[in-house]
Amino acid sequence: MEANKAKQIWAKACEYLSSAISADIYNRWIGVIAATGDDKAGQLTLTVPNGFYQDWLEEHYLPLIRKALGISDLDHLAIVFMVDGSRQAAETTDKAGEEKEKPAKARIVKSYNAGAALNPRHTFDNFVVGPSNTFAHAAALAVVDSPGRAYNPLFIHGGTGLGKTHLIQAMGQALLQRGKGTVCYTTCETFTNEFIQAVQQHEISGFRKKYRHIDLLLIDDVHFLASKEGIQEEFFHTFNSLHQNQKQIVMTSDRPIGEIANLQKRLVSRFEWGLVTEMEMVDLETRVAILRRKREELRLQLEDPALFFIAQHVKSNIRKLEGALLRAASYASLTRKPLTAESLEYLLRDTIEQENQNALTIEGIQRMVAEYYDIRLGDMTSKQRPQNIAFPRQVAMYLCREMTDQSLPAIGNSFGRNHATVIHAHRTVGGKMKTDPNLRQTILSLQQRLGGATAPA
Ligand code: ADP
Ligand code: MG
Repeated sequence: MEANKAKQIWAKACEYLSSAISADIYNRWIGVIAATGDDKAGQLTLTVPNGFYQDWLEEHYLPLIRKALGISDLDHLAIVFMVDGSRQAAETTDKAGEEKEKPAKARIVKSYNAGAALNPRHTFDNFVVGPSNTFAHAAALAVVDSPGRAYNPLFIHGGTGLGKTHLIQAMGQALLQRGKGTVCYTTCETFTNEFIQAVQQHEISGFRKKYRHIDLLLIDDVHFLASKEGIQEEFFHTFNSLHQNQKQIVMTSDRPIGEIANLQKRLVSRFEWGLVTEMEMVDLETRVAILRRKREELRLQLEDPALFFIAQHVKSNIRKLEGALLRAASYASLTRKPLTAESLEYLLRDTIEQENQNALTIEGIQRMVAEYYDIRLGDMTSKQRPQNIAFPRQVAMYLCREMTDQSLPAIGNSFGRNHATVIHAHRTVGGKMKTDPNLRQTILSLQQRLGGATAPA
């Protein structure tokens, strides 16, 4: 769309947006957007100062922007966000005086390589390494150093918002930078949709060509394969074709391979061929380090105590951690009031409440107990039974039974066991508590940490 037209359309949309949301939110998130021309009909290009805005807007404001365009019957336009490096540089010099960044040229974020876009913020440089992700990070670096040779495939699993996508996209960018061949990043869901479309349009060979003639396949969220026969079949052949040609495959999943429901045995074994690594919950120090990094990157005005408060209260998910930081920072910059613990608590009440509820899921309990006994989360579901693992596992089962409404089979299932094991664990722990005051104390303290009721006597 030509520049003037884009500006016109955007100005009209802004009229609506400024009436639809509060002035501070408008100024912070919408006011920074500029419409620019591009050479594609049916596309509206919106530039923003940095990748963070892009993410945030895509995640939170896209529906609203579409609605605003809908008022002029233009909600069919493709919206493309573009990061304008020169604007970022200008802002940087404004704020930090002599500090200068390369006045990068505007760069279209959504036009990388074969697959979907790689987020330019997801680099190794921006990735904070701590105990929970050291191993995955090292594996990722090793693979980038010798793709197709070190570990093939590399399988990374871990809970939501713990940095899996960031890490594998960093691998993609590193490889592209070194000019080591073609990279394709895609989610398993997109892969599936493209496959279905290819089948419908009789373009299977095009589809296969796309996915079998690349050097690095980064495929995100393969737990999506669960219980889907057809796509498992296709993925099996894609995998084989790449692997036989020593092309690198990297996968992520929100759960371990063994817990992807109805995954064909031959896929299970292939996924285990290379290296399997887990990303775990991030510890407090790393959370603080991540917040500091973000504060610097975005030049936010926020004092250390506020960062600590956020890191202490938002534990389960780095995406939420970033959201909380941004919320606090925009509040601070708008009100120009110092952020006290009370105001933070109020500001972040929804997130904090969610965190507390999180803890009361089976997984939340497993995490908490694993952390407490200093064992790995994976030990909760593993088949091993040395005493140092078996007992904490029983404690976790006991707490699940006491503190959640989940059924016995559901609890058993979450530990990779059956309901009888849960009953047994509940009895064992309950019995020991009667005679062991230390254990009673431990259970009490765990229940308090989980934000639940007091322990039974
Ligand atoms: P996942 O794919 O595991 O759900 P993401 O990779 O999307 O998680 O991470 C969520 C957010 O947290 C992203 O914005 C990412 O940049 C950030 N993030 C995650 N881990 C780290 C880390 N170790 N250092 C810096 N930022 C991180
Ligand atoms: Mg992800």
